[in-house]
Amino acid sequence: MILRTNMPSTIATESGEKTLAQWPAPTPAGATLFDLASEKNLVCPLYQCRVLLSPQELWEKFPLTEPAAQTVMKGRWGIERILDGVDRRKFLVVGPCSIHDPVAAIEYAWKLKQLADSVADKLLVVMRVYLEKPRTVLGWKGLINDPDLDGSCQIEKGLEMARALCLQILEMGLPVATEVLSCVAVPYISDLLCWAAIGARTVESQIHREMASGLRVPVGLKNRTDGNIQVALQAIQAVRAPQGFLGIDGQGRACFVRSGGNPYSHLVLRGGGGQVHSDPSVIGGVRSQLEELQLPANIVVDCSHGNSNKDHRKQKEVFCRLVELMAAGERALVGLMLESNLFEGSQPIPSRREELKYGVSVTDKCLGWEETEELILGAYKLLPQM
Ligand code: PEP
Ligand code: MN
Repeated sequence: MILRTNMPSTIATESGEKTLAQWPAPTPAGATLFDLASEKNLVCPLYQCRVLLSPQELWEKFPLTEPAAQTVMKGRWGIERILDGVDRRKFLVVGPCSIHDPVAAIEYAWKLKQLADSVADKLLVVMRVYLEKPRTVLGWKGLINDPDLDGSCQIEKGLEMARALCLQILEMGLPVATEVLSCVAVPYISDLLCWAAIGARTVESQIHREMASGLRVPVGLKNRTDGNIQVALQAIQAVRAPQGFLGIDGQGRACFVRSGGNPYSHLVLRGGGGQVHSDPSVIGGVRSQLEELQLPANIVVDCSHGNSNKDHRKQKEVFCRLVELMAAGERALVGLMLESNLFEGSQPIPSRREELKYGVSVTDKCLGWEETEELILGAYKLLPQM
């Protein structure tokens, strides 16, 4: 039954009020609304619009395995316990700015797993497996969007590669972290994530906050690119609340979603707008703000991006300063992030694939493996036994 009780009987227009009876006639029988809208040039012509496999079809193609599920559960539980203050260890989110080559990503994961095992009594290490990239203007938008790095945007292939890669890393026993960007892409991989970020460019976006409120994954909300922290504090509160919103189901159909709210949403300070968020005074000030808002006093600091002014080598200085602060007993500081790859620096994406240097970032500059290992082992030495 259609309820018409709230429908207005007249509508105000520039030429005065019109009753609904005077309104243009309904769509002629047989024509879809879309046909009519196209004919009258009311919708943008789509150059291509192809149906993709559904989340359910991808889960069936690359099913969650028992060893991978164990890593996901252990990883999430470990981070949740750190955020609850029950586990006094710290967590590290370490890895490339973006993944473009699954072979190099697996080699990196293998090295990181050995290192993670050797520091596990003081540090919970999670790998950055960043599959989507938000761009300030334009550029390559990540493995899911364009797995061939040539603008061909083979998204179905990207989704398959992304899921297969996450599963392989999880099966090694290494937890996976990513930035969740496309609300449509999330259901394809959300069962595989141990930690997720809402980035600096989307932290103010309602649809991203809604999506994060429905994830069963601890989510870090970053401060805005201009250094504004208030918006991230607002985002934490929004993400913690249950929400009703538009989403897609396992079959890819539009649906109404009611989320339960995400109790493990927390702050990630990444600097920006000329501000560096690594000084004890900044950390102390933000801790007080969280307490005033009656939010858990949990802060993660991203040593890259605005905090290192995009100079990857500065990550070392920021990381060491924060580890000292942790060792001195700053309990609000629960985690750190590093951008690191097999080899240091970055490279532009060449037009010929064979000119791509192995193990080097195609987005932000990263630390190389040796320095990453040195920093993590240094932190391990400095941090007290929990
Ligand atoms: C990133 O982690 O690579 C990134 C884009 O971060 P931010 O959102 O802080 O710029
Ligand atoms: Mn980056």
